[in-house]
Amino acid sequence: MKGSVFDLKKFAIHDGPGIRTTVFFSGCPLRCWWCHNPESFFQGQDGRPAGFGSRMSSAYEEDSERVIGDEVSVEALMKEILKDNVFYRHSGGGVTVSGGEPLYQPEFLYQLLVACKVENLNVALDTSGYAERKNLEMINGLVDLYLYDIKFIDEKMHEKYTGVSNRLILENFEYLSGCGKAVEIRFPLIPGITGTSDNIDSIIEYLKGVSAVHKIEILPYNKMCEDKFRRMNIKYRPGPLPAISGEDLSSISKRFSDEGFVVIVGGSER
Ligand code: SF4
Repeated sequence: MKGSVFDLKKFAIHDGPGIRTTVFFSGCPLRCWWCHNPESFFQGQDGRPAGFGSRMSSAYEEDSERVIGDEVSVEALMKEILKDNVFYRHSGGGVTVSGGEPLYQPEFLYQLLVACKVENLNVALDTSGYAERKNLEMINGLVDLYLYDIKFIDEKMHEKYTGVSNRLILENFEYLSGCGKAVEIRFPLIPGITGTSDNIDSIIEYLKGVSAVHKIEILPYNKMCEDKFRRMNIKYRPGPLPAISGEDLSSISKRFSDEGFVVIVGGSER
C-alpha cells in the first residue's frame, strides 16, 4: 500500500521517548494560522510546491527521489525506519507519525502501524484529533502514545484560527482518555492567539475535568513558519507576532505546573 509523505526526520528526540524516526504524512483538514508545516497542506504530487522536503536528514537524502514528495510504500518506509532499529532499542525510542494529520490517510496509517508492530517498535501518534471515530478506533490498539494537540476550548476561537470546530477533537480526546491510553498534550503557544490568559485558563479547567493527562508540552511559536508560507505563496494570516519572552514562558509553564501538570517546553523545531 502507498501513501503520501512529505518528510522524514531521523534521530528525533522531541517526538516521544528515546531516539525516534518521525514520519510526516501529507494532508491536513485544518488550516491553523501558525502552522509550522504548511507543506503538509498538499497531498501527493498534484499541487505540491517545489523545493520542499529539504529538511530530511542527510541519511535519508540518498533515497529522497524515491520517497519525498511522492507516493511511498509501507515497505519502503519500513526499510528506512528499520535502519535505526539499534538506536530505538538502546534508547527506548521508536517511530512517531506526524504531519499534517496522519489520520487523514487512515488506511495507509493503519498499514504502517501494523508493520511497526510486527517489528515490535514503539509507536507515537502526533495528531490534531480531527478524525472520524471509526478511524481512531481502527488504529488505537497499535498506538503506544498519543501526542494530542489542544489549541482552544472555545469552539468559535477554534473555528476562527484553524478552520474547523473542535467538537470532534474534544470528543476524541475524551474517548482516548476513557480508554486509558497514554496521552500527552501539545499546546502551541501563539502570542495573542492561543497564549491568552482566558484560553490557558479554559484549557486547564477542561483538562482537569476530563482526563488523567499529566503531561503538557508547550510548543512556543516559531517564526520560521512565516518564511515557509511566503515561499509557498500562501497568505500568512497572523501578521507580525510579538516574541514570547522567557518571563512569559515561565509564567505560563507555572500556571500549568501549579495545577499538577508536568510541563515540558520545547519541540519548537517541529
Ligand atoms: S493541525 Fe498541525 S499540520 Fe494541520 S494545519 Fe494545524 S498545525 Fe498544521
